Amino acid sequence: MTAATLYIIATPIGNLEDMTYRAVRILGEVDLIAAEDTRHSLKLLSHFGISKPLTSYFDHNQQIKGERILNALRQGKSVALISDAGTPCVSDPGYQLVRDAVAENIPVVPIPGACAAVTALSASGLPTDAFTFAGFPPSRQGKRRTFLGGMSALPGTLVLYEAPHRLLDTLNDIREVMGERQVIVARELTKVYEEFIRGSASQVIKAVSQGIVRGEVAILIAPGDAAPPDSEPLENVLRRLMAEGALSVKDIARQAAVISGVSRSEAYTEALRMKNEGN
Ligand code: SAM
Repeated sequence: MTAATLYIIATPIGNLEDMTYRAVRILGEVDLIAAEDTRHSLKLLSHFGISKPLTSYFDHNQQIKGERILNALRQGKSVALISDAGTPCVSDPGYQLVRDAVAENIPVVPIPGACAAVTALSASGLPTDAFTFAGFPPSRQGKRRTFLGGMSALPGTLVLYEAPHRLLDTLNDIREVMGERQVIVARELTKVYEEFIRGSASQVIKAVSQGIVRGEVAILIAPGDAAPPDSEPLENVLRRLMAEGALSVKDIARQAAVISGVSRSEAYTEALRMKNEGN
């Protein structure tokens, strides 16, 4: 145990067996543990027989508490930072504390362990050579669509966190903005009701619509160039729908986007081009 060190310690995201030996040892050795929710963390710590001074460090007290934690470090104390679950600083408080400690040349030591994003990605079957983790999408639809649109052309798999009550809205926006991609909802990872809902965006939306999704969820979206295996080429779909003659260009584009796995705007541009050229 090194004095005046800030340890960033990952804790399980559900299954307590995912706690690492090193995490248990260091939590038992530090002078102070800073936790996002002290009551929540007390349960974890007592499960592992750890009894140490605890202080809270969460979103709304970061500035005051951060300064106190830095003071403890300046005085030569060792401090461990933990969040409610998973890796601190990943969609959790901690980044500012780490930044300030680094600025003062205080050693910061990561103790790796569970992280929902990487856990979901590892069993997703989607490309893992490159991926983007983008945290929680904005809760308002307009901002969420802009956010998704901004990431539509990124290479690699996109990993998001979402609250269960917003899952369906976000999935609908994913289909709307990004087109019919392969999507996976990874639910309750490492817990009793762990589940992977896989399929095209439409199939996953259908599955999710059939019941109430409870628990914690991460969403994974295949890169734009990985079209669903059974998708029909855009031009064919547009030609077929246009030949039926019953729909407006806008409606044709909407349907064609879903069938072909492209974005609505791409389908609309192509539909207009074909209509103008008399195809
Ligand atoms: N720091 C954590 C980590 O390393 O994964 C993430 C904290 S963030 C506040 C909580 C979000 O992570 C949840 O809303 C959910 O999107 C995702 N998450 C956490 N645990 C999960 C689990 N067991 N299964 C699926 N998603 C989970």
